[in-house]
Amino acid sequence: MNNLLINNTSKDKTLFTPGPLTTSRTVKQAMLRDLGSRDKEFIGIVAEIRNNLLALCNTKKGKYETVLMQGSGTFGVESIISSIVPPDGKLLIIINGAYGHRMVKIANYHKIKNVTLEYPENATPNLKEIKKLLSQDKEITDVAVVHCETTTGIINPIKEIGTIVKNAKRKYFVDAMSSFGAIPIDVEKCNIDYLVSSSNKCIEGIPGFSFTIAKTSSLKEIKGYARSLSLDLFAQWDGLETNGQFRFTPPTHSLLAFKQALQELKAEGAVIGRAKRYKKNYETLVAGMRKLGFKEYVPTKLHGYIITSFLYPEHPKFSFEKFYSLLNEKNQVIYPGKLSKVDCFRIGNIGRIFEEDVKILLLVIEKVLKEMEIKLI
Ligand SMILES: *Cc1c(COP(=O)(O)O)cnc(C)c1O
Repeated sequence: MNNLLINNTSKDKTLFTPGPLTTSRTVKQAMLRDLGSRDKEFIGIVAEIRNNLLALCNTKKGKYETVLMQGSGTFGVESIISSIVPPDGKLLIIINGAYGHRMVKIANYHKIKNVTLEYPENATPNLKEIKKLLSQDKEITDVAVVHCETTTGIINPIKEIGTIVKNAKRKYFVDAMSSFGAIPIDVEKCNIDYLVSSSNKCIEGIPGFSFTIAKTSSLKEIKGYARSLSLDLFAQWDGLETNGQFRFTPPTHSLLAFKQALQELKAEGAVIGRAKRYKKNYETLVAGMRKLGFKEYVPTKLHGYIITSFLYPEHPKFSFEKFYSLLNEKNQVIYPGKLSKVDCFRIGNIGRIFEEDVKILLLVIEKVLKEMEIKLI
C-alpha cells in the first residue's frame, strides 16, 4: 500500500457525501500552525495556491486570475453573480437541478434581472434553445450553468455551451464546484470567463473558502458592478494583486490544509490520477448497488463519476430515515436526495475514499437491508 492509501486512518465515519468530505490525516495535520495574515510565509502560500490552481485548468496568470474568497461554495457563487452582471445587465441561468435554482435565488436577492432555461433533472440542456434565446434576447449579458449538478451527478456539456456563449458575445460563468480537480477542465478551450469551486470538494481540503478562476480581460471589465462589499470579486482580486493579502481575515488554517491537499493531488497524478480513483469508486459502487437491486436516477451515458442518485426502492419496508441511521450507526454516511419530484438518496465517490471504502459500504448496505427485512432481487 502506498502512502496515499494509509493516509485515511482517522476513526471518523466515512463521508460518502457531496462535501465536506473525508480528508487525509496529513491535510488535517497541516493546520497545526498559527500564521499571521501578513506573514511573509503566509503571503507566499496564498500566491502559490493561486498559481497552482491556474495550472490545474491548463492556463496561466495574465490570461486568467485566481480570486480566493472566504466562505463556502455558495458564497463563491454569490460573489460571482453579484459582481459580474452589469447594473443594467441580465443573467441567463440554465437549470437542471437544485444548484441552478439556487443561482436564481441569489440573482433575485440582488435584484439582478434574470431569465431561465429549465430542463428535467435527468436530462442535459438543449443547446439549440440556448443559442436561440441568446440571439433573441439582446438584454442578456451573462450566462450561468452548473458543470456537475451535484443534485443528481449529471454532467452538463460546458464546452458546447461555452462555444455558443462565446459566439453570441456574452460572458460565461460555470459552477464547477463538485467537478474541479476531478474532471479535466480547460478553461480556455471551454471559453469560460468565470469558474468557481471550493476548498472542500475534489481538491480534498477542508471548508473555508471558494476560488474563482476568471479570465483576466473579463475581470477587468467588472469594476464597480458588485452589489456586496465582502463578496466584491473585483475588489478581492485587486486586494490580492496589490499586497498579496485578503481584504478581511483569511481562513489561514484552511489555506494551509489546501496547500497540502494540492501537493497530495499532484502526488496522485493530478486531475487524471484523481479521476482514475473516483471513477473506480463510482464503477464499484454502481455495480454493487445494481447487484443489490438499486437503480440510478440519471441515464448512465449522462452520468459522471462524482456522485450518484439512487431511486428509493419500491418496497413497503423501505424508509430512508431508517436506512440512513442504520448505515450511520455503522460509520457510513450517505446523503439525502435533493430532487424536486422523485425520491432519491445520494452516494458520493469523492474525498479521500478508495475502492476498499466503497466495498465496505456495499457490505454494510447489504447487511442493513437484511436488518430491515428488505430483499430487492
Ligand atoms: C457543493 C456545491 C455548491 C455549494 O457549496 P457549499 O459549500 O455547500 O456552499 C454549489 N454548487 C455545486 C454544484 C455544488 O456541488
